[in-house]
Amino acid sequence: MRREIFSEDHDLFREQFRRFVEAEVEPNILEWNAAGIVPRAIWKRMGEEGYLGANKPEAYGGAGADFLYDAVIMEELAYARAHALQASLHTDICLPYLATYGSEAQKQKYLVPAIAGDCLVSIGMTEPGTGSDLANVRTTAIRDGDAYLLNGAKTFISNGQNAHLCIVVAKTDPSKRHDGISLLLVETDSPGFEKGRNLEKIGLKGQDTSELFFKDCRVPAENLLGEEGQGFKMLMAKLQQERLCISVGCMASVRRSLDDTIAYVKERKAFGQAIAGFQNTQFKLAELQTEYEIGQAFTDRLLAAHVRGDEIVSEVSMGKWWTSDLQKRVAAECLQLFGGYGFMSEYPISTDFQDAAVQSIYAGTNEIMKVIIARRMGLEG
Ligand SMILES: Cc1cc2nc3c(=O)[nH]c(=O)nc-3n(C[C@H](O)[C@H](O)[C@H](O)COP(=O)(O)OP(=O)(O)OC[C@H]3O[C@@H](n4cnc5c(N)ncnc54)[C@H](O)[C@@H]3O)c2cc1C
Repeated sequence: MRREIFSEDHDLFREQFRRFVEAEVEPNILEWNAAGIVPRAIWKRMGEEGYLGANKPEAYGGAGADFLYDAVIMEELAYARAHALQASLHTDICLPYLATYGSEAQKQKYLVPAIAGDCLVSIGMTEPGTGSDLANVRTTAIRDGDAYLLNGAKTFISNGQNAHLCIVVAKTDPSKRHDGISLLLVETDSPGFEKGRNLEKIGLKGQDTSELFFKDCRVPAENLLGEEGQGFKMLMAKLQQERLCISVGCMASVRRSLDDTIAYVKERKAFGQAIAGFQNTQFKLAELQTEYEIGQAFTDRLLAAHVRGDEIVSEVSMGKWWTSDLQKRVAAECLQLFGGYGFMSEYPISTDFQDAAVQSIYAGTNEIMKVIIARRMGLEG
């Protein structure tokens, strides 16, 4: 079905970006996955081509276009299985903090090079002892003259090895929970900022995911983002877009698993016929295709509402848990239709299965999504 949210201009942009992916991304995916990281040069190329700032203000090097252009980039990278290059994490999850809450000086210093591909940005919320319960972070940033002294540890930080700048979630007032949290812009080559291991994972192999340690790391006071104690509110305000990005990626990955499986079952023969001829294959794929259409229609509705500027926290939480569950089910069912080949690493359907696992965990677990939905339905103990 034609997706009504996209205009002809979006379609042209998609064709242009797809050519870039075919030429400069796809040929390198296996190498990046084996290395566990992408070279910084590909970020620079993305910046040079304008793919890191489509939705960012022109005054800082962006194109000032709507969020759907960024959605096109997410979809094409997910469809290409280029999970190693998590552009949306940099562009749509980290940069909005700078664009919305950054001072003019912070924008010039960090947002401009970030859009150009010279400054890769990560976000450090999760700690070894706390993930879902964000208000319980233990990392502290205590004011010391003209700086904050940062101490603590983060883990599972995407782009953690490659990033030049990390938006660190820390307590400037450890006696408080939500109201004690602030966001700090921390340059990753600062003394006292240590990058730990690039963690080994069962999926998203080419995407670097790291531990980070802070030992008396001095962060200039002017690198506080927004106001002291407002960090939690800023995080909550930006999570709507973060979770929508997950759904957009999930649906593109579902499409890719289905497309490859539909092609495979037409080729593969058993008992003298294509396995596409078995009723089980037909029913399974018919069901999954139906769920794809339902999931895509809902995700497109969320995209349109987000572009309008609607507050859709509940709906985005619904989309995040449902589309990530769908992606996991589709990957598992499609793998089954590949038989033994589905279990072989050289068949990309096997990596779809591995890559899908994390979607229900990060950006807030699916259980937390249901907590949010239930709370907004007035269901509290
Ligand atoms: C590949 C990868 C990349 C990541 N990238 C980043 C990143 O860039 N930056 C960052 O800050 N973090 C990142 N994360 C961390 C991620 O956001 C957390 O793992 C996630 O929020 C869950 O936190 P946790 O791992 O501490 O699990 P926990 O919070 O310990 O949860 C464990 C289990 O308990 C359940 N649970 C917890 N609380 C409740 C509740 N109230 N009700 C019901 N069930 C509950 C959870 O749903 C889960 O099933 C990443 C994680 C991964 C795996």
